This record gives sequence, C-alpha cells and structure tokens, in this order.
Amino acid sequence: MQTAAIGIDLGATKIAAALVTGDGQVLAARHAPTAPQDGPAAVLDRIAALANELCAESAAYPHTLLGIGLGSPGRVDPLAGVVHNAVNLGWESVPLAAELRARLARPLPVWVQKDGNTSAVGEYVFGAAQHTPDFLFVSIGTGLGGGLMAGGRLITGANWNATELGHISFDPLNGRECVCGLRGCAETIVSGQGLVALFKRMRAADAGPSALRAEAIQTGDILAAAHAGDALSLRALAEMGRSLGLVIAFCAAVTNPSLVVIGGGLGLAAFDLLLPSARAELEARVLEASHADLRILPSRQQSSAVGAASLAWFFTEKEVILAKQS
Ligand SMILES: [Zn+2]
Repeated sequence: MQTAAIGIDLGATKIAAALVTGDGQVLAARHAPTAPQDGPAAVLDRIAALANELCAESAAYPHTLLGIGLGSPGRVDPLAGVVHNAVNLGWESVPLAAELRARLARPLPVWVQKDGNTSAVGEYVFGAAQHTPDFLFVSIGTGLGGGLMAGGRLITGANWNATELGHISFDPLNGRECVCGLRGCAETIVSGQGLVALFKRMRAADAGPSALRAEAIQTGDILAAAHAGDALSLRALAEMGRSLGLVIAFCAAVTNPSLVVIGGGLGLAAFDLLLPSARAELEARVLEASHADLRILPSRQQSSAVGAASLAWFFTEKEVILAKQS
C-alpha cells in the first residue's frame, strides 16, 4: 500500500507544509506566514487551510493519507496534543491537535511533537539516521535544540522536557544571560546569536586579526569570513564547536548513541568548521568507549515539513501508544 502524510512545521515566522509519500518524496508544498500577533485562533486557521489544501490535493494520488504530523515550538504534550510556553508565538497553552482537528474538512489523525523531536524522527525515517535506533539530533539555528532516540524510541521525558540541550548552563555565575533566565546556557554560545556575541567579545579582546570590523555583524558574515580564512572568525567557530562538543559529551555519557546528526541552518552551514573542535572536546570529556564509535554527520532532512510528516509513519508503525489521540 502506498501511503502519504501531511507534514506541517509551525515556526515563529513561517508555517511550512508538505504532502509527503512513504518514501520521502514531496508531492506538494505550501507556505504561509505565521503572524502570531493575530492570536492562536488565526494561526490555527492558517495551519488548517494549508492542511485542507494538501488533503484535497492528495486525492489526485493513489496514496492512502495516514494523517498530519505537526511540529511546534514550545513544550509539547504529544498525548494531549497541547503546546505550552511557546514563547516565540506568545502562546501559554494551546490545544493544537484538537483545534486543528476541529478545523479539518475531513477527519484525520494528528500527531504533534516539539520541533526538535519532529526533526529527529525525520532523520530516523527519511534522513541521516535511518536504521540507527540510538542517536542524538542537534539543531543549531537561532537557538539550540534537539531530539533523542534510544532503542528506537523517541525520548520525550516525564513532562515533555527531554533534550533541552540549549539550556544546560556551562557558566551559571559569569556566563551571558540567557532568554530562559539562567546564565551561561549552551545556547548563549551554540546558536546564531551566540556566535555573533562570541565573535564580538573575542574581537573586543583583540583575540586575533579579522577583516570584519562592522558593528552590525551577522552570522552569515562570520561564516563567509571563516570560509575565506579569517583568523578570528575561525577561532570563534572553533570555540562554539568546543561548547557543542561538551553538549554531545553529556549526551554520549548518558545515552551512548552511535550517531549524532547536526542540523539547523547554522549547524549545517558551519558543520565542517565546528566538527574538529567539537570532536576534540568530546574526546577529552568522556570515556573512549563512549566516543570511539560515535559518528557525527550533517542532517539529510529535505525540509522541516518532511520531518513533521514522518511522525505519521513513525507513530503508526512504532509507537502507537504515544500517538494515542486525546
Ligand atoms: Zn537558557
């Protein structure tokens, strides 16, 4: 039986949706602005409109439509289908799955997970972690997040807070203030903003020569300069890589993955520049048995919407209990 699913990635600025086949082929894709300032009901209307369009489009194909996978920021309770504390959306508590189902033109199962988890499942079903039951997904973009698979199960935690990689503090006394209220979180270094802050701090301390002198510097400037051999940009990325290696070391010591997949816009763009120092830090922090066979690879996910769609196959086939509809 040929199957398909709709994947929807809810971001702070954009909603990305795709109709995806069981072998990862994208049959159709749609986008809409999130515009969270309009309130949850308006955002849910936009999500449902995309889902209904793709659902109608699926009628042109012979595939059986399994349902809708939805990735959301915030703390996501996948059993109740509720999103809590999605700060970037201004949402305190929104029953995403139930509200979406109420707006669908035709009844379909809806699976909801936090975005780091949908990406991890996407890597497992279609990407770099296929046939790899024990792996860590790390997403480096505007923030630092991830998802963890252990024994082929997605680890969601006691109250849906698993894999909060961005908010392990390395320096709670003297580190930079984090959006979460702590100081020195991994995300204050391993993220786009973290890289820019790190670079500026190193430049102010005259830590090395650099062609980048402008005050309004962006992540892309540092990456381009590093690829062109700019000494200070390379040092900043190496420093960020060391912190990434520390995050990986904690996870390796606890869960012994065989693979770490690095994704996110910055994680992919800077992968080759981060890897050497991340690997060196990892090797300095944990037993050889914990790192010797640990591979670190870039993400092979086509899009965040494809990752969201993969929830349908993962939960249909592997974890029916977690997919239970409320
Ligand atoms: Zn934090």
